[in-house]
Parts: sequence; C-alpha cells; structure tokens
Amino acid sequence: MSGQALKTINIVGGGSSGWMTAIYLNRYFNQREKNFAINVIESPDVGIIGVGEATVHSIRFFFAAMGLDERELMAETNATIKTGILFRNWKKPVDGKTHEYFHPFDQQQPGGSVDISSAWFARSRDKHERYDQAVSLNTRLMREGKCPKTSMSMPYQAITPYGYHLDATLLARFLRRKAVEAGVRHIEATVTDVSVVDDRITSVTTENGQFPGDFFIDCSGFRGLLISRLQEGNWQSFADVLPCNKAVAIQRELREGEVPKPYTVATALSNGWAWQIDLVNRQGSGYVYDANRIDPEVAEQELREFLGEDSQVLKCKHLDMQVGCRKEFWLGNCVAVGLAGGFIEPLESTGLHMIHLGVSLLATHLAGGMDNEALRDSYNEKMRGFYEDLKQFIVLHYCLTNRDDTEFWRAAPATGKACSWLDVRLHQWRHKICEYQDFAGSYSSIFTDTNYRYVLYGMGHNPDLTFVLAEEDAAQIFSRFSALVQRALRGSLQHEEFLQSLSGPVRAG
Ligand SMILES: Cc1cc2nc3c(=O)[nH]c(=O)nc-3n(C[C@H](O)[C@H](O)[C@H](O)COP(=O)(O)OP(=O)(O)OC[C@H]3O[C@@H](n4cnc5c(N)ncnc54)[C@H](O)[C@@H]3O)c2cc1C
Repeated sequence: MSGQALKTINIVGGGSSGWMTAIYLNRYFNQREKNFAINVIESPDVGIIGVGEATVHSIRFFFAAMGLDERELMAETNATIKTGILFRNWKKPVDGKTHEYFHPFDQQQPGGSVDISSAWFARSRDKHERYDQAVSLNTRLMREGKCPKTSMSMPYQAITPYGYHLDATLLARFLRRKAVEAGVRHIEATVTDVSVVDDRITSVTTENGQFPGDFFIDCSGFRGLLISRLQEGNWQSFADVLPCNKAVAIQRELREGEVPKPYTVATALSNGWAWQIDLVNRQGSGYVYDANRIDPEVAEQELREFLGEDSQVLKCKHLDMQVGCRKEFWLGNCVAVGLAGGFIEPLESTGLHMIHLGVSLLATHLAGGMDNEALRDSYNEKMRGFYEDLKQFIVLHYCLTNRDDTEFWRAAPATGKACSWLDVRLHQWRHKICEYQDFAGSYSSIFTDTNYRYVLYGMGHNPDLTFVLAEEDAAQIFSRFSALVQRALRGSLQHEEFLQSLSGPVRAG
C-alpha cells in the first residue's frame, strides 16, 4: 500500500453497514498478516435502524466470501429463503382480479436461436400467460411452496439463485460476533465530536475518550455524522422522482399454521407500497409512503387494516427516509457506507447490496493507497453511477402504472419521463425486446435486461413486434423449459421442510 501509512481505521456505527464493512476489510487486508487495526465505534444509546430484512441473491457471495457458515447464519438470524418479489396491485385490477407479477432471481435460457423472452412473444404466449410464469423456475417453485434447495445442495448453492429474509438486529449481532472473533475491536461509545484538520478527520471524541485514526468510515446511518462534517451540500436528493420519504414498520407474529413465504410481497397501497417479509418466527412489514400526501397516523392505520385486524402486533416504528446519495462518498480520509452514503427506497431490497458493493469497491481502491486522488475519483464516480442506475430501475416500477385512484398514482407516470436514460429506453422497448446490450455504458450493478423484463412485461409494457420470430424454435424452447420445471419440482424441498432442517428460531430480544 503506497502513500501515508495506514495504521488504524475507525468505523463509526454498528448496524449492518458497520459490521459488514469491518468483517470485509478485516478479511481482505488482515487475514494473512495484520496490515492495520480496525475499530468499530458503536453508540450503546443510539440504536440501529432495525429494518433491512430482505436481500438480493448476490448477498450469498458476500457471506460465502467472509467464510460464514450458511446454516449457522440462517439459524442465528431466523432467516428464510427468498426467491424473488411478488408485486401486487401496481396496476388497476384486470377482469376483477388484483394485478400481480413476480420478479424472481432467475431467468432460464433453455437454448435456441431466439431467447426465451422473444419466444414468449413469438408464440403469442403474452396473450394468455404471465411472463414470469413462462420463463422462471423460481416462479414455478414459489407456486408449489418450494425453495430451490435440494437435499444435496451445498452451502450457498441451489438449483436457482436465492437470497434471504433475515432479522436485521440479529444479523448485526451475528456479524459483530464474527468480526470480533476475527480481530476487529468493538468500542461501545457515543461520538460527540469529530476533529477535522485540513479537510481530514484526525479523531473522534466520545464519552470514553478520543479515538485518533488514519482513515474513517462513516456507518452512522442517515445522520452521516462524519461525512457531513467535511463538506456542506454533499447530497443529491432523488425526491423529484422517488417521493416516498417516510415508512411505518410493523412486526407481527405469524398466525397459527402460517408457513413463511419464500418470497417478499410488495403491495401498492394508496400513497406508496407495503412490504411483507416472513422470517421463521414473525413477519416484518412496513408501509413506504409519501408524507407530503398522508400523515403518519393515516399511514399506520392503512397498514394495520391491510395486515388485518387479527394481527398480533409485536412492534410498530415510524421512520424518516432520506432518498438520494452523496455527491462524493469518499472525501479526504473518510468514506460513507450504508445509509450514511445513500439510500433508495427498499422496493428491490437493495440496502445490503449497496453496502456489499460499497465495501468491496472500497477494498480494491484502498489497496492502492488512501491518498490517491485518481482512486478517490474512480470510487466516487462508480458509486454515484450505481445509485443513479438503481434509482431509474425503481422508478420503472412506478411509472408504468395505470392507477388513477389517488394523486400519488396519477403523478407516477411523469417520474419516468424525468429520468432521461429510462425515458429513451421505454420508447425503444415499445418496439423491440429489452436486451443486455441496451445497458452498455450504464453502471447497473445487478439489475439488467432479465430484471427489467420482469417489470416491463409484468406491467404490460410489451413490444409491438412487426415480424414473427422463429416459431419452431420457440416451441422447442418451451418444451425444454417444461422438462426443466418438472425436474426442479421433483428435486426441490418444500420451503418449510428446508427451514425445519435448520435449528429453531433465536427470537430477537
Ligand atoms: C424503511 C426501510 C426499509 C428497508 N428495507 C431494506 C430491505 O428490505 N433490504 C435491505 O437490504 N435494506 C433495507 N433497508 C436499508 C437497510 O436498513 C440499511 O441499508 C442497513 O440497515 C444499514 O444501515 P446502517 O448500518 O447504515 O445504519 P443504522 O442501522 O442506522 O446504524 C447506524 C449505527 O450508527 C451508530 N451511531 C449513530 N450515531 C452514533 C454516534 N454518535 N456515536 C456512535 N455511534 C453512532 C448507531 O448506534 C448504529 O449502530 C431499509 C431501510 C429503510 C429505511
């Protein structure tokens, strides 16, 4: 590592971002020989946000790379398997039925000269069959209450990609234990002051003394306690296109006989949408809404009614959300990770993914030195790009709606027009299939053509194709897909059966 010596990294914050960052950097830099000390300074008085319980599938690669045992992780966080997200009510009902589509983590490619999506149009299956049901194994497994694990599946492996639903408080606790066992120092103290000299942080002050350091990572949540001390106005708001700015979260007990679902449900309500995430012992839910249109009490009432009067509510919490990201994530000797760096509403469960991305990119950049301006610029440019691209993907879910029951939904189509990259593509995708090459030059870190197709075709934004594609090939593709489905259904475990093979719930305090 070149430049000024790096002896101590202080991470302020002990939520998912603080511990994911600590465990990753420690493994990356200190596993063979100790390059520097890593401290996590966590306030015993300021809690963690306590939400962030659904993941994308690539989080498995993070946990696996950290050497964590999957069964232990799942058992200690009351985790369930997640194979995708079921979107409900994002358009007007069709033939009296609630509009629904599934965004699974897989898309099958059974081979042929055309891809399966083109084949779906070629055979006019779009007229009578839901897109996700035509192309995804996860969707078929979901319908049968199955998960993609078989009795032979190795840790972190299954027949299709999957992520998790896990208890956020237990995850932070689990990662803390693992990080401390691996040599990270845990300091319980509240930061009351941040000392800055020549645009660099020199130390943080707590009631238990001062902690000097060479490099600081701000994982203090929405407060951005460190990064906001270095530059004013360092925030790019996305409120113009993503107006939801508050959430109310409710934890409820699972009902007698209720089996945890291996997918997240995202239901559009009057002024936003509600998530439902099943763990082994409870359901986490929440209403993400636009507080310029409804008050918190009204939102809470709407959520309670949605969940059902008979719900056994364990906890209810109101949260503010700052939707946007830093213009500069890395300033001087400080990098903001997690909510301190940015946040996009959790419609696609991307909070932990953005931490994974932020810290892995930080490691590769930091390896070249902590004072290299070109590396800092590279890091900032990429992180901004990732947030900007994610913003457009989330806007896509709203802007194709035909709902007109509230002002919130009537305003949604305009948000797509305000995102220039998306607006251009939406016009093109009226006349051609959405394909990987359409994303050339973008920063999409995880969501590309396969993901866009689920939302586009789930919301009915289908291309108006002039020429019929290879019909014969299309027939073969679907016959191969059917065979795949049959094999998968035979081999996979019921979700409940797989969960029972893990040890019982830890139950958060
Ligand atoms: C409504 C909502 C729903 C979400 N849903 C999802 C989801 O489904 N999936 C997903 O991946 N992400 C989700 N997220 C995002 C996810 O919650 C966060 O990305 C994740 O929890 C990381 O939070 P954090 O560690 O950055 O901040 P926090 O959890 O807020 O942690 C901040 C830490 O800083 C410490 N701290 C604060 N001030 C001080 C101080 N003065 N001194 C010392 N320490 C201090 C606190 O003690 C705490 O340990 C959601 C977010 C919201 C708002």
